[in-house]
Amino acid sequence: MIDLHVHTTASDGTLTPAEAVLLASHLGLHAIAITDHDTVLGHREALSAGQKAGIEVIPGIEIGTLWQQGMIRCSVHILGYYADDTAPALTAFLSGIIAERNERNRNIAALMAEDGLPADYDQMQQRFGPFIGRPHFAQILMEEGLVSSIDEAFSLYLNRGGKYFLPRKPISITQAIQTITEAGGVPVLAHPFQYRLAHEDLCTLISTCKSVGLQGMECRYSLYDGAQHAVLDQLAAKYGLLRTGGSDFHGTRKPHIALGTGTGHLAVPDDFLPPLKQAAHRK
Ligand code: AMP
Ligand code: FE
Ligand code: FE
Ligand code: ZN
Repeated sequence: MIDLHVHTTASDGTLTPAEAVLLASHLGLHAIAITDHDTVLGHREALSAGQKAGIEVIPGIEIGTLWQQGMIRCSVHILGYYADDTAPALTAFLSGIIAERNERNRNIAALMAEDGLPADYDQMQQRFGPFIGRPHFAQILMEEGLVSSIDEAFSLYLNRGGKYFLPRKPISITQAIQTITEAGGVPVLAHPFQYRLAHEDLCTLISTCKSVGLQGMECRYSLYDGAQHAVLDQLAAKYGLLRTGGSDFHGTRKPHIALGTGTGHLAVPDDFLPPLKQAAHRK
């Protein structure tokens, strides 16, 4: 089995890239992809840990976009695999996203500090590293006893409508897919049922993405059951997309999700990997 959706301390996971790779190797996984949000900074460490441990490590990324069409306004995640980390268009795109993210974070930290919470942004960066996202603010809310779980921190404070929610500058699906593609990567639609779209709208999303270069779809995911996996398999066949799958492991920030097995029954077959590799090599 393999796991093609893993977050590390390079973004909002709690294991370092090397720790995630070692855990995967101990679990007997044959390959893992590091798909941190908006950054490729975990790849080098993960690839070298993979070489030492004898497990295949795939460089990946996850980019949050905003899909707007008609009445629909929906946050959609695009995964990218095997992009060239040094491609200037990709690195410029990612630095822009991170700069904007930092500005938003400073504003969230200021809102929390006004309420007397210990959310000094410079201190947070010293503690958590250069990448900060809402999960780190959630952790502070939990440590301060305002909520009893990360999930509760999101639903009470950090989701849209919450006191500490601030929007991000939207990135379009097209921008994310084209930037990944131009860097030689393979763009894949992440966790398609997380967008809570009616089936017809999900089909519109998939065909819209496909028309701008989408090549794959995440057809196995921690939170989906066998029936949902079957629907995704059918959709992948219908739209001519290759299939990927992964847990979306974040360490203790998503404690219910285990590497490789998700909530217990996830199993992403090794067979998913060769088509992904071929798609990357065709470029
Ligand atoms: P940000 O990118 O800063 O807007 O933060 C979004 C990230 O927070 C997502 O990528 C998820 O990893 C995480 N997240 C969102 N909702 C939850 C939740 N209910 N529980 C735990 N993590 C969440
Ligand atoms: Fe995350
Ligand atoms: Fe995601
Ligand atoms: Zn993810």
